[in-house]
Amino acid sequence: ETFDDYLDEQGNISIRSDATMIDFVDKHSAGSADELAYRYIDYSRERDGEYHELTWGQFGVRLRAVAARLQQVTQPGDRVAILAPQGLDYVVAMFAAVYAGNIGVPLFDPEELGHTGRVHSVLRDCRPAAILTASSAAARVREIFRELPAAQRPRIIAVDAIPDIVGQSWIRPDVKIDDVAYLQYTSGSTRAPAGVEITHRAVGTNLLQMIDALGIDETARGVTWLPMFHDMGLLCVILPVVGGGFITIMSPSAFVRRPYRWIKELAAASDGASTYAAAPNFAYEHAAVRGLPKAGEDLDLSNVIGLINGSEPVSVASMTKFNDAFTPYGLSKTAMKPCYGMAEATLFVSATKREDEAMVVYVDRAELNAGRMVEVDPTSDSAVAQVSCGFVALSQWATIVDPETGAERPDGEVGEIWLHGANMGIGYWGREQESEATFRNRLTARQPHSHAEGTAPQADWMRTGDFGAYHNGELYITGRVKDLVIVDGRNHYPQDLEQTAQEASNALRPGFVAAFSVRADELPAALREDGASAGSEQLVVVAERGTGAAKLPPEPIAEVVRAQIAAKHGVAVWDLLLVPAGSIPRTSSGKIARRACKAAYLEGTLRGGRRQQEFPDAEA
Ligand code: ATP
Ligand code: MG
Repeated sequence: ETFDDYLDEQGNISIRSDATMIDFVDKHSAGSADELAYRYIDYSRERDGEYHELTWGQFGVRLRAVAARLQQVTQPGDRVAILAPQGLDYVVAMFAAVYAGNIGVPLFDPEELGHTGRVHSVLRDCRPAAILTASSAAARVREIFRELPAAQRPRIIAVDAIPDIVGQSWIRPDVKIDDVAYLQYTSGSTRAPAGVEITHRAVGTNLLQMIDALGIDETARGVTWLPMFHDMGLLCVILPVVGGGFITIMSPSAFVRRPYRWIKELAAASDGASTYAAAPNFAYEHAAVRGLPKAGEDLDLSNVIGLINGSEPVSVASMTKFNDAFTPYGLSKTAMKPCYGMAEATLFVSATKREDEAMVVYVDRAELNAGRMVEVDPTSDSAVAQVSCGFVALSQWATIVDPETGAERPDGEVGEIWLHGANMGIGYWGREQESEATFRNRLTARQPHSHAEGTAPQADWMRTGDFGAYHNGELYITGRVKDLVIVDGRNHYPQDLEQTAQEASNALRPGFVAAFSVRADELPAALREDGASAGSEQLVVVAERGTGAAKLPPEPIAEVVRAQIAAKHGVAVWDLLLVPAGSIPRTSSGKIARRACKAAYLEGTLRGGRRQQEFPDAEA
């Protein structure tokens, strides 16, 4: 089958009812049994890594065995959570849940749980009937459930302990294309993570959209170190089921310790295959700084077709550093692909076109804050760099909408990004009201040249909670609705304020600054100022101290930061709090959680330098 077999007469992606994830895998395990499907490189014992591999045939055998075991102890539709270390057992566990007719819930590596609060909040939400893990981690998983009464504990199954022969009793489940295959939990940047219900249709459609946008052919190999609980990490390991060649997996820590491992796997091999990968912004900077080959070592990156850079705002600095570091090794200027995506859309929304270089524009800050994209001289003080997230995927639609009225806004104006397409999740697990409010919105009016062209008038639109704009036909993400800082009736984007703070003083830890506004009446009495009106908003900046700045006196640092923010943004910093490294709450994927930071600030717990709980809105 070729890509065109998945297109309808209008050229739109249209998944047939017999194209569930089970059908896709079955096709490979029967038709390409001897071909390599997954390779995991384990660096925990050997410096150069040990290979663990599964062919499609072996993969199919393992899936049937684990799925058959699940069918003995669960009902169709039961949730099955994966709490396993990075590796092939994780991939087997995830697909086996789907093969059993259960709903998979990809979760964390139990050995790397920084905060067990996070895992308990998700487990309470999805109430799994069984947990899949690996033998090496089973004891740790049992510990997580120790406090529950025995009757409430889910069954814990080590996938590597199940013999192949068990697969003989596997019964193909009666799975329909619009059934939920798995729950993708959001990162939890603005709230307790919500479990997006991803159907077989949504994941198949989204993978075809990625394959189309990046130009992935049958032989293209992927390389990933992303954790599989994260939507970008998960889609990387599901992709080979729908298209492309095998994928090479390593652990997040293997990458962080030696980023060159990732770069080296991306390089040209004798098979001549093109390669691709996905990672958030910080990883490209890390690889540029710490991931260069040794002097004299051969490295040929001319075969790299796409490096997806998404899930967080993309910075010009990290792209430039990465390109400067690796262009001498043949990396194409078009390899870097800023992308926009989210769990609610399965993953992928938009990307820079295959043949395009990443596009950066400089827009006027005051105009941007007032909702308009107006280009200015890049060297001007009022210039804010905006990285384009390119063009919306085939058979997906993004409109810029007035969030109050639901009416589409014209190009050049900022509004909330609303999405439509068969790749959307159908709701949040167990949250009917939030699902309705997020996934089932109507456009009330369209522009003459509408970005909704081709969608039905009664179509459901998903509210992303992100502000963005079209500019010269490309989609730009300007910031999150919930994180917008509003002081004296004027809008400021927190990431813009944070960047100014960071540039003002190198005593601040880069990337670990949070800006938010607080209402005077939210403040504890001790911090409240006399005479401030109850509803007035004030700007607070919390910043971690950088290495070497742990003991510097705070006043001079605060002074330069305040002065820069006043000069560039015309807003007074009401409080600047310096905290020790590690104090600002972040998500499991490393994103700043500004609202959680604000809650901790108001509670007063940040002042003592104490580490924070991640989700103030999670049930205890
Ligand atoms: P939660 O929804 O639980 O608060 P989250 O929104 O971070 O967490 P994800 O679905 O993992 O959870 O992340 C998607 C979000 O990440 C997007 O809605 C957007 O805010 C941000 N994002 C993704 N790609 C980009 C990008 N290229 N530029 C700016 N922001 C991006
Ligand atoms: Mg979100």
